[in-house]
Amino acid sequence: MKNLTFTILFVLLTVSSFAQKSEIPIQQEPTKPEQTEFYEPKVPRVIPGANNSAPSDAIVLFDGKNFNEWISSKDSTAVKWTLNKEGSFTVLPGTGDIQTKRNFGSVQLHIEWKSPEKIEHEGQHRGNSGVFLQNRHEVQVLDNNNNSTYVNGQVGSIYKQSVPLAFASVETGKWNTYDIIFHAPVFNAAGQREKAGTVTVLHNGVLVQDHFELLGTTEYIGWPKNIAHGKAPIKLQDHNATVSYRNIWVREL
Ligand code: MG
Repeated sequence: MKNLTFTILFVLLTVSSFAQKSEIPIQQEPTKPEQTEFYEPKVPRVIPGANNSAPSDAIVLFDGKNFNEWISSKDSTAVKWTLNKEGSFTVLPGTGDIQTKRNFGSVQLHIEWKSPEKIEHEGQHRGNSGVFLQNRHEVQVLDNNNNSTYVNGQVGSIYKQSVPLAFASVETGKWNTYDIIFHAPVFNAAGQREKAGTVTVLHNGVLVQDHFELLGTTEYIGWPKNIAHGKAPIKLQDHNATVSYRNIWVREL
């Protein structure tokens, strides 16, 4: 009896799905080029920046002059890191992470960073910092030149989640670029994650993360977490190393 019920149900579903499909008009193969060309919506004009500088529609987060867009993460006070004459800033170890005053969702982020010239310490303690998307997902910054560590925590990794596809650092003490495309995770009204966030990273123009689906927060100890959140700041890590940053801009997606 049970089997018969299932059979009837299956037949009904199949017939109804066929009926629905048959209502959709069969599109004919276009025969003229114009049939597959369209002119709306208009594409917004963006003036690109020269030498990795900000394009016309970007929010400049650091142009070498001041910390106007940043605050100290732990207490929202002024940034204590060192502003350098040549238009960069350097982590002042022990003063804590810094983060943007603004909150962001999905973004294209350009940021340049430099490991300390003076080689100190080993593994995770050599030139460690990090770029945290939405304050939760770390793209690792580390001096891995002649310095190995766990590969899911090396430079260009999504910390403890995704091993980079390549090790693309320049010499220690020279400037690196990160170009990051981040799509924020989506949560439903019940607070459950409906869609994973994704990260793509180009390190000095080399693809090191290819649309990686984030598992959640990047934890030092423990599994990734997925607690619902909205827009959030971009954070830079004080990991007790004098890593420098410059030329930081973001385009909201
Ligand atoms: Mg780090």
